[in-house]
Amino acid sequence: MHQPSLSHLSATDPDLAALVEAEATRQHDKIRLIASENYVSPAVLEATGSVLTNKYSEGYPGKRYYEGQQLVDPIEELAQERARTLFGVPHANVQPYSGSPANLAVYLAFMKPGDTFMSLELAHGGHLTHGSPVSITGKWLRPVHYGVGRQTGRVDMDEVRDIARKESPKVIFCGGTAIPRTIDFPAFAEIARETGAVLAADIAHIAGLVAGGAHPSPAGYADVITTTTHKTLRGPRGAMILTTEEHATAIDKAIFPGLQGGPHNHTTAAIAVALKEAAEPGFRDYARRIVANAGALATALTERGFDLVSGGTDNHLILIDLTNRGIGGKPAAKALDLAGIELNFNTVPFDPRKPWNPSGMRLGTAAITTRGLTEEHMASVAEWIDRAVTAAEDRPALDRIAAEIQDLLNGFPMPGWSAAR
Ligand SMILES: *Cc1c(COP(=O)(O)O)cnc(C)c1O
Repeated sequence: MHQPSLSHLSATDPDLAALVEAEATRQHDKIRLIASENYVSPAVLEATGSVLTNKYSEGYPGKRYYEGQQLVDPIEELAQERARTLFGVPHANVQPYSGSPANLAVYLAFMKPGDTFMSLELAHGGHLTHGSPVSITGKWLRPVHYGVGRQTGRVDMDEVRDIARKESPKVIFCGGTAIPRTIDFPAFAEIARETGAVLAADIAHIAGLVAGGAHPSPAGYADVITTTTHKTLRGPRGAMILTTEEHATAIDKAIFPGLQGGPHNHTTAAIAVALKEAAEPGFRDYARRIVANAGALATALTERGFDLVSGGTDNHLILIDLTNRGIGGKPAAKALDLAGIELNFNTVPFDPRKPWNPSGMRLGTAAITTRGLTEEHMASVAEWIDRAVTAAEDRPALDRIAAEIQDLLNGFPMPGWSAAR
């Protein structure tokens, strides 16, 4: 059951409590490979569930529009200071409600409607908020995109430079949601400087790796860094924007009053806790183990004939092109879910199929590494994936895999949940 137990919730709203308990059990029983997910610590859960949710505090520490900020101010300052120290940046805004509004703040701070910006094509690993036609960022601004090479599966920095010279974008975004390789921040910074663009590094996926020293940092290269706090960083659902001194005021004004009202103080507190955890030596080890697990899983999948975009991974993330397996991403992901392995179907670069049933699936190792799985387990994970994709129509075969997985996971406690029912 949930730890601590949901006694008040169960008394007040047993229907809802039962759903939450069932979700906790589901999280316990599955190999969670969704690349953007994790398991937060009990301390982060406690801060998220605290009375700070009761407080309104529009503005920033020392400049609030409501009274009673004696304790909220030091909480937000603590989060800011920990973010600055951990990432080595002069300024941190910890108020964005999530990654998408954090990116909107970048556009609001530096651009006018119709202005041009550059980013990684969504189908090549970008994010909706990097100018997708269905996003406000694609409707109200003018995105131009760079992509990855058909053969390499990697961003071609010469192409980035050529497009930037031709288009003179106001902002260049680097980063995305399905990039299995190291982002070359110095090269992006050089191109941004040459073309007069603001460089925004969206490190939502890799923030925990950056904090833990397992991916190069954009600090000192990017003008602004946006990140969620709930992916590899292993904090509550939220976001931060880290900036140079020069851009601090523009970003702060864009978040409040530009886009948001009162900050979510319970989230701010939980971000502070997550940042403290991420500054501990054990987190460097965690970041290293995430990458080691992804590398071992990539090797094991390749040995089983899976075709990995870019041929492997440098970080937490693997993108599989299922074309050679004769199955679409969606039926494969659905079969895996029945088999106790949770991931998402995903487009692959130059995907001939449509986004609602694309050719690929995306997986990441942040959550299973938190759970305690190590490199030695990755051969089994690859075997289960292989068996489930092969037996996608065979429900009893999928059930057998799910049972084997539950057996393994029973030996790895889940933060915030205990098998004592
Ligand atoms: C997850 C993600 C976001 C958006 O975060 P939300 O919290 O889902 O709004 C933005 N950019 C990138 C690169 C992401 O991976």
